[in-house]
Order: sequence, then structure tokens, then C-alpha cells
Amino acid sequence: QTFEQLNLHEDLMKGIYAVGFKKPSKIQEVALPLLLSNPPRNLIGQSQSGTGKTAAFSLNMLSRVDPAMMTPQAICLAPSRELARQIQEVIDKIGQFTDIKTFLAVPGSWSRNVRIDKHILIGTPGTLVDMLSRGGRIFDPKQIRVFVLDEADEMIALQGLGDQTTRIKRMLPPNVQNVLFSATFNDQVRSFAETFAPEANQLFL
Ligand code: AMP
Repeated sequence: QTFEQLNLHEDLMKGIYAVGFKKPSKIQEVALPLLLSNPPRNLIGQSQSGTGKTAAFSLNMLSRVDPAMMTPQAICLAPSRELARQIQEVIDKIGQFTDIKTFLAVPGSWSRNVRIDKHILIGTPGTLVDMLSRGGRIFDPKQIRVFVLDEADEMIALQGLGDQTTRIKRMLPPNVQNVLFSATFNDQVRSFAETFAPEANQLFL
């Protein structure tokens, strides 16, 4: 399979070539057609780091936001500031030929009185909850189309993820595309995943 077969925007194809990807990794080959399908479907995926999952969910977010709308339209949560920053780097590199901008939503990166006009938020759960507790003054949650959780098992182990994602999801539109990746699936992670992403396509490689 090739990236050309995925009907990605030409500016994203330029980004893929610029980072040096020649063909989709195994997980990208399977996950991308599922992620990019219309109408959007939820996805639960098992994947270790090193498989190319970051580029897979990043290409999906980059494909689904409208750069002409100066407001966040995709959220990606990660267990640590460091991982969030790494995801942001991947999105910025692949998206370098688009007008899509990212914002790192971690403690200290935002201010109570400043609206965010970037398209994709990558951050840690607590910071997203704090931003949304400002009641739509930081960004309008109704414009979010994609909600990604990366390394969900790690975030669950750090506690409170269930409460935090419930609080966030209550504010998002009902038709948001929910995407969850986790390296491991025990009963707790599985039950969380099925609540977070109902009726999802499931991908276990
Ligand atoms: P990840 O699993 O997202 O942590 O990615 C692991 C590594 O694989 C990163 O260094 C990526 O740059 C690289 N990578 C991702 N997709 C591809 C691809 N299609 N071809 C070659 N390398 C890739």
C-alpha cells in the first residue's frame, strides 16, 4: 500500500515526503483508512511506540480541521508534557505545508484571558479540564471534531482520567470522533476504552 492511495490532501503528501516516509507502516496501513472514513468512526487501537501510530492519528487530525476557522477543532491528550510536545513536533512537521497551527496545552502555556486561535490542541488532561472550566472563554468546545487519547493505559495509571475525559466530553459535540490508542489492554483499560469510544472500530495488531 502507498500513501497516494489514501486520498490525503496534497499539502499533507508534501509533509509526508519532507519527513522522509516512503510508505505507510503496518499500523498506518490499517488505521488510516479506518480513521479517515466518512462519516467518521471511533477507533480503539492497540499499539506500542515505534509503530508509527503518532503519524497515523496526526494525519487524521490534520485531515479533519479547517485551517480557515481560527479555533481549535481537534484535541489530543497524552500522559506527559514531554510526550505531548513530541506529538506536537510530529504534527508540525507533517503539517508544515498547511496553514494548520498547533498549541501545546500544558500547565503554564495558556492564560485565563487569551483565546486560543490555533487548530489542534495537544496536551495533558488536567490542563484541558482547566481550560474548559473557563466556560468557552479560552476556546469553543463545540467546534471540536476529533478527540484523541494517546497512551491511554499510562493516563489511566496516573489516575483521574475517567473523570477528566467525562468532564471534557460533556462539553464536546455528540458527533465528535473519539480515537484511543493504548499499548496494553487490561479489563480496566478495555472498559474505559469502550465507554470513551463507543461502537469503535477496533484494531489489535
Ligand atoms: P511512533 O510509533 O509514532 O512513536 O513512531 C515511531 C517512529 O517511526 C518515528 O520515529 C517516526 O518518525 C517513524 N515513522 C512513522 N511512520 C513512518 C513511515 N511511514 N515510514 C518510516 N518511518 C515512520
